Amino acid sequence: MRQRPLCLSILLALAVGARAQEPDYGKVEIRTAQLAEGVYLLQGAGGNMTAAVGADGVLLVDDEFAALTDKIRAALKGLGAGERPVRYVINTHYHFDHTGGNLPLAQAGATLIAQDQLRARLLSGGTAGNGGSIAREIKPAEPGALPQVTFDHELTVHLNGEDIQARHYANAHTDGDAIVFFARAHVIAMGDIYVRYGFPFIDINGGGSIQGMIAACSDVLRSAPADAKIVPGHGELANLDELRTYLKMLEDTSAAVSAALKAGRTLAQMQQAKILGAWSERYSPPKAFVDTDAFTETLYYSLKPRVLRHGGRPQR
Ligand SMILES: [Zn+2]
Repeated sequence: MRQRPLCLSILLALAVGARAQEPDYGKVEIRTAQLAEGVYLLQGAGGNMTAAVGADGVLLVDDEFAALTDKIRAALKGLGAGERPVRYVINTHYHFDHTGGNLPLAQAGATLIAQDQLRARLLSGGTAGNGGSIAREIKPAEPGALPQVTFDHELTVHLNGEDIQARHYANAHTDGDAIVFFARAHVIAMGDIYVRYGFPFIDINGGGSIQGMIAACSDVLRSAPADAKIVPGHGELANLDELRTYLKMLEDTSAAVSAALKAGRTLAQMQQAKILGAWSERYSPPKAFVDTDAFTETLYYSLKPRVLRHGGRPQR
């Protein structure tokens, strides 16, 4: 990863109570890479974007920040979009580093598409967080940034000879997540259900859960073609083997916290005993946004209601 994802430093600053820093958008460059004919990965600051560019026009999956919209347009022009505006945007989830460009793109004519619950969260605002030490206030979005087209389970856009399908995965990174499948190109844009910066942030306040993260990754691995190119929400392009390794980490860390919950351990005891220590080196790099303690906390708050419902000893 060339640079830390911007959103993470902002969220981290908020997590420790500091004031959010305005990123220096002027210095951000949009990198592009071709994934298949007419399908590209775009990376600036914030969440990764996937673009379909062709005779019928441009579709963009996620749109980073409004301050980068002109740079994103310039990058798309370089990929053959010409002067045509972006025609469709599909948002993978409501977080500001994936939806920040919604307003300027919609004002220029784009149709914004998202899962029902994503629109509801943009509309209401709220507090994103892991149920514990990570929390961030999110203001309601401006009306012009709200998706005009929403779907419950799935929606397909037929563009440039490609079937681009957004499928809802319930209660994963948030409760309004979509994973976007480019059928012909074998490209899958996973949003923040799959990230490569270390332990993932799960927005439990926003309806996310570890169980949903595991279910979504499992479903992609079951249904994806073997040569699928996986676009994570943050970090570099991946393949199915890399996604499989990440899923195994989610399953194994989740099992470790479940077992500790069933044994009646408190969160502080789990952190003290470093029950996720075996994963720290790989998934909790120095200055990690979600370090080992924060991920233990995330899993604790995600799993606790379910484990206790199924007969674990109550916490004190
Ligand atoms: Zn996110």
